[in-house]
Amino acid sequence: MSSEHISDHLRQRVKDRANGLCEYCQSPDKYSIASFHCDHIMPKKESGKTEFANLAFACPSCNTHKYTKTVAPDPQTREKVPLFNPRSQNWKEHFQWSNDFILILGKTSIGRATVKALNMNKDKHIESRKLLKNAGKHPPT
Ligand SMILES: [Zn+2]
Repeated sequence: MSSEHISDHLRQRVKDRANGLCEYCQSPDKYSIASFHCDHIMPKKESGKTEFANLAFACPSCNTHKYTKTVAPDPQTREKVPLFNPRSQNWKEHFQWSNDFILILGKTSIGRATVKALNMNKDKHIESRKLLKNAGKHPPT
């Protein structure tokens, strides 16, 4: 959802907690022309609050694809599962990089569903990761 009504102070805290990385696709805000958003993990539409515990730092792409979704089908089983929650779950438990660090692979049903729903391996992500990798700025540490 949009980051309107989020104070600069709160936004900065959310960004700092995330080390300036999208909490879904791990892309760095630092090298993005478009400003990152504060995603409402539980959407405002479903009474999610604009508070530190319900916000995730998200690139415009992940934020837009997530929109008001909280569940999505696991592409392997077609079963609907919750999307990855950066506040209560660990990225490395649900995702891993491909051997060349260009693709994000879902390790669990939640990971697979989130990669697909948020389109975390779209062409622009791939091109950006290749550039950052060549510049020694990817994968993030
Ligand atoms: Zn992202």
